[in-house]
Amino acid sequence: MITSFLAKREEQLTEKLALHQTGEWGLLPANKIPTSTMKSVCGFCSTGCNLTIHLQGERVVHLTPTPSYPVNQGKACPKGLEALRVLQSDDRATHPLVKNGRGEQVPIGWEEAIQLFCNRFQSIQREHGKSSVAFLSSGQIPTEEMALLGCLAKMGMGILHGDGNTRQCMATSVVAYKESFGFDAPPYTYADFEESDLLVFVGANPCVAHPILWQRVLNNPHRPEILVVDPRTTETAMSATEHLALKPKSDLLLLYGIAAILLCRDAVDTEFIEKSTEGFAEFARFLGTLRLEVIEETTGISIDQLHRVTCKIAAAKRASFWWTMGVNQSYQGVRTAQAIINLALMTGNMGRPGTGANSITGQCNAMGSRLFSNTTNLFGHHDFGKKEHREKIATILGMPVEKIPTENSLAYDQILTGIEEGTIRGLWIIATNPSHSWIQSDRAKRLFAKLDFLVVQDMYHGTETAIQADLLLPAAAWGEKEGTFINSERRIGTIKRVARAPGEALADFSIFRLIAESWGCGEYFRRWTSPEAAFQLMKEASRGQPCDITGIEDYDHLDQCGGIQWPWTESDQRTNGNPDPERRLFEEGRFYHPSGKAKFLFAENTSMPELPCIDYPLLLLTGRGSVCQWHTETRTKKSSLLRGLSPKEPFVEMNPEDARRRSLVAGDQVLVTSRRGSIRLRCVVSANVQPGCVFIPMHDVQTNVLTLDHIDPYSRQPSYKDCAVQLIKAENAE
Ligand code: SF4
Repeated sequence: MITSFLAKREEQLTEKLALHQTGEWGLLPANKIPTSTMKSVCGFCSTGCNLTIHLQGERVVHLTPTPSYPVNQGKACPKGLEALRVLQSDDRATHPLVKNGRGEQVPIGWEEAIQLFCNRFQSIQREHGKSSVAFLSSGQIPTEEMALLGCLAKMGMGILHGDGNTRQCMATSVVAYKESFGFDAPPYTYADFEESDLLVFVGANPCVAHPILWQRVLNNPHRPEILVVDPRTTETAMSATEHLALKPKSDLLLLYGIAAILLCRDAVDTEFIEKSTEGFAEFARFLGTLRLEVIEETTGISIDQLHRVTCKIAAAKRASFWWTMGVNQSYQGVRTAQAIINLALMTGNMGRPGTGANSITGQCNAMGSRLFSNTTNLFGHHDFGKKEHREKIATILGMPVEKIPTENSLAYDQILTGIEEGTIRGLWIIATNPSHSWIQSDRAKRLFAKLDFLVVQDMYHGTETAIQADLLLPAAAWGEKEGTFINSERRIGTIKRVARAPGEALADFSIFRLIAESWGCGEYFRRWTSPEAAFQLMKEASRGQPCDITGIEDYDHLDQCGGIQWPWTESDQRTNGNPDPERRLFEEGRFYHPSGKAKFLFAENTSMPELPCIDYPLLLLTGRGSVCQWHTETRTKKSSLLRGLSPKEPFVEMNPEDARRRSLVAGDQVLVTSRRGSIRLRCVVSANVQPGCVFIPMHDVQTNVLTLDHIDPYSRQPSYKDCAVQLIKAENAE
């Protein structure tokens, strides 16, 4: 069966897309005039830019940003422009690899690999129970693939526990929105960047992390106030009209302070609060217990500055509030995100152009994962715990309802704890690199080594996680397969296959189908004949949900419209024809709770668990390094252009005062040590970091050796940006 599957795939490829693998798409040779184009959403970040791929015959010759796409309007960052080049690499996984008795990974055929996959996981499940095998998925693969994976693993294979790397990125926003709005619903559209007269960025550095969104801010014709709340003087803070350089992890209290002053000044939208929210009286009582002197001392922001920025927020007719990882990756991230939401609600900045409490997503398809991956929610953002939801999804999928688990699975950190405790013994990791990216990474690496059987499915065989695999399944990458992504503003767009995957690498979708057949549950997945068939199942699953997309016909419809934001129902399409290119939520002031109202949610501020002390006197902050680096750099490092535009070696940034105290100068090699481990880096001296803090970009494999394994209790998202470290000159350590 597998042999014929591969033969068919080969035939299709030869027939349609036998492309030259080494096309010079960066530089268009004068004699190579493109004869056709294909448009595809970028596969790096959640901005969701559209890229036009130029083909000469079947050969890719060029790649340019798509001018007509409503997201990027003809712009792209260097990562997007290099998106095809990073597919060419010596460490592309081309054949399944299995670890032999000497610990070497050696090639095997697909037939053998899939058999081994099923035999080993089934035998672990027989011996230790169904829940002894788990999976960890990714926000980097198309929605159709993550949907099939979730259904296959949880309903077909009886794997009860699975999570995705969205846990590291967006879990906090998901929980915050669900609790506040009644559904995980980022309300905005990118036009809001251009329509605000005041924008507040909390823990967000779009100049570097979302450069095309920053371009949209620069397009704003209203000369807006830009307030940046960040302990570092980031590139965005430098471009702001006012920077609130607060002490790390004091954002929750700062936001409550602003809310308290708004209330005192009676600068609240009473009509909106009464009509569209609940819980304001309790919130107001809580705010009344706060003392501005304490807030000043805790945050380092003077009462004067607090009043000044609050006045600006109060005066704005269209204020929008934006956040990313500085909020999400925090031990009290959910309540901090909700403190931002509260500001938007109490000032009535919701549902109108240029307003909103808006989380900017990280990965290209984290939003797809949030709705359709079957990890924390049942397909289509349903609830595993609700019988009527299970019945609806079982009918759509054509499988017995008993196949659908009745409970949510363990979260990422709990799966790792399960490995530590020996209850989870088999793990399947798809398109993610947790041996590098998970908090306190040495522990993650040690736990993966402890497993009875580790399968990694990835486009590269050389990632820190892939080299640990007992079985490596080679996957096709973005550009080599089809599907859809959902971007930060809820826009669904298509990705296209324009190049063939190297060797025997297969689209993840195809790998999942092979596994389904071999596992013995193929009968339940006969409807999943192609990504586009899976898209039709996604549509049906969304029917009646706030994310209803039944009005989208097919991939062509998405392409014609420049992507379509959810929701878009059958009735919308029937009544209005094609959707407007920019749509926001909550224009009627109605939210998704049964009451139709949004909730004010809040909690007491708590202290970070590992404060600087005599032995570890500095606080470590982590974050994105440069616009050319993407997460663990498995892809961006493959481009010489992106490498050339990135820092040459790992570094730690520290304040001149702290450097002087340690007799350090820029360029010195230093040893940074936390209670978890030590790493060696080059010292960069910069006033962009406050005294008492150091900053290390997250991209270097060493960074998470230092970080402290702690999480937000509601979202279980790791808090990457606060742990105590010591820093000394490396020669003093020798
Ligand atoms: Fe791709 Fe994001 Fe860059 Fe746009 S901003 S080109 S989506 S990486």
